[in-house]
Amino acid sequence: MNVIGVIGAGQMGAGIAQVSAKAGYRVLLSDMSVERAQSGKDGIARQLARAVEKEKITADAAKAALDAIEPVGDLAAMTPCDLVIEAATERESVKRQIFETVAKGLSDSAILASNTSSIPITRLAQAAHDPARFMGVHFFNPVPVMGLIELIRGLATSDATVAAVEAFGQSLNKRIVHANDAPGFIVNRVLMPMLNEACFALGEGVATIADIDAACQLGLNHPMGPFTLADFIGLDTCLEITRVLFEGTGDPKFRPAPLLVKYVEAGWYGRKVKRGFYDYSGAEPVPTR
Ligand code: NAD
Repeated sequence: MNVIGVIGAGQMGAGIAQVSAKAGYRVLLSDMSVERAQSGKDGIARQLARAVEKEKITADAAKAALDAIEPVGDLAAMTPCDLVIEAATERESVKRQIFETVAKGLSDSAILASNTSSIPITRLAQAAHDPARFMGVHFFNPVPVMGLIELIRGLATSDATVAAVEAFGQSLNKRIVHANDAPGFIVNRVLMPMLNEACFALGEGVATIADIDAACQLGLNHPMGPFTLADFIGLDTCLEITRVLFEGTGDPKFRPAPLLVKYVEAGWYGRKVKRGFYDYSGAEPVPTR
């Protein structure tokens, strides 16, 4: 593989473009417009400048990585790509539209992959150019820091496609894990019930936010407690994924905690709006319960 296309220049797409360029690939980065793609590249430039300051990368390597990223505004520009990774907004209609448009220009050997967190890969594959050359490639946020990629094969994904994307992932120096096309894949299947259960425990008055967080952090040796993590991910995202688990499996053990639903209905989505289970308006986060 030489040329990687990344569709969506938001936090995930920009991160995927950055690590791909750093690994030596030429990257075509697209978004709704070339201006948005350029603004994704500007964000990457700031990240790389910070990495140079911290001496994690040389100035020459940072410049080479940045020079390898070309912002494009039109999906027709993806024609030279060997692998196109879609990292656009988590809405099925948006992703389907992208696959249908990009498929027109792809070569006979090109692979298309989605970074979706929750939409079934087999279903998305129906909108792809060739379901055998389509799969899930699930990066973690922030992409340059997190060392994992989950690979998800759909029912029709070929062994050759999995092998090619696995080799690409390894070239980024990430640990690859394989998951079948089941709701939540691996990480969210295990994580979201824990965050949801913490919300049940809080709602039932088992303990306070601060004590549940401290208990999990120190008692389980987790880097942060479940409410701190849920606020970081976004409570709306946590609820959305929990609903996917619940609806996708039909199993009542995944039903969303009423308190989580209430926080989302209140618009208390977490850090991004400065209020979730903690209030982030002051110098230090303050638990809301
Ligand atoms: P984001 O909102 O930061 O970025 C999405 C980008 O997609 C935006 O720049 C938007 O302009 C662009 N976009 C929307 N429609 C488009 C179109 N038709 N063509 C081209 N670009 C379009 O979102 P994000 O957090 O980067 O998430 C992107 C994907 O990655 C989603 O599928 C999400 O589920 C998945 N994901 C997110 C995380 C996370 O922690 N944020 C982790 C793993 C996977």
